[in-house]
Amino acid sequence: MFYWWVRVFNWIHDGDTHYDNEDYNWCNRGKGEMLDEFYIKLEENDRDKAKEEVKKRLNNSDLRFAKPRKGKDGIYAVMMDSDKRWHDRFYNQVDTYCISCHKHIKGPAANFPRIDWGDFSGKDNFYCSYDCKREIEAKMRGIEGEFQERETPSGIVGYIYHMYNRKEDKHYIGQTKYLPFFRWQEHIKSGSKGNICDIVFEVLTEVNKNYSSNEKNQEYMNNIEAWWIQKYRDEGFEIINDVIPRLTIESLKKAFSEFIAGQQELSI
Ligand SMILES: [Zn+2]
Repeated sequence: MFYWWVRVFNWIHDGDTHYDNEDYNWCNRGKGEMLDEFYIKLEENDRDKAKEEVKKRLNNSDLRFAKPRKGKDGIYAVMMDSDKRWHDRFYNQVDTYCISCHKHIKGPAANFPRIDWGDFSGKDNFYCSYDCKREIEAKMRGIEGEFQERETPSGIVGYIYHMYNRKEDKHYIGQTKYLPFFRWQEHIKSGSKGNICDIVFEVLTEVNKNYSSNEKNQEYMNNIEAWWIQKYRDEGFEIINDVIPRLTIESLKKAFSEFIAGQQELSI
């Protein structure tokens, strides 16, 4: 089997000005906002055929595999050679016991802390929680310093994040204009999303400052959030967001309906 790692981005041309901040370590520097991530698996090592699979999945026969040229906007895919280990890390389910406290754990393997990079097979080497992982690692490493800076780096409007409650198998997608740790802390203090030991936190994408007005940047961030919420819902995950924002930007609405149509076609 041959594997490719695919990420899909929306790029808005703005002369790259917001990447001026050299102190910030961008996740997707110069790529835009991530809209989807998946793997393609084929029996033969045929990159062109893999690209066709990506186009089919996204229902977009004109999909580009490179960022739009200078001065242009649009959706494009980045496709990279990968292997079974990474594919499995992304898709495998785990059904095992915590190597620290022996509690039963079951769910997406990528969401549980692991002892090392050695085994993504879902068979062993998992912790039930970051508490269990920390407990063991603290003995080896000493105590971590605290990260206290709250403001987002310049060039960033904010972040779209995902919280997964692995005990209840429920998902929450949110946005914040600050570094996400602070928002997560509020969620935990309010107790509304569950117990901190059951929740996985991750940043889905940073949102770039693409427009000159705060209002337009806010609308764009709302749209990227709405995109991820709808994507999780349409892929069959249980979402616990109270309010479901709507896509309001025409180009994203159109792209989203094409994505979903393509995915439904594939599952038939
Ligand atoms: Zn444990």
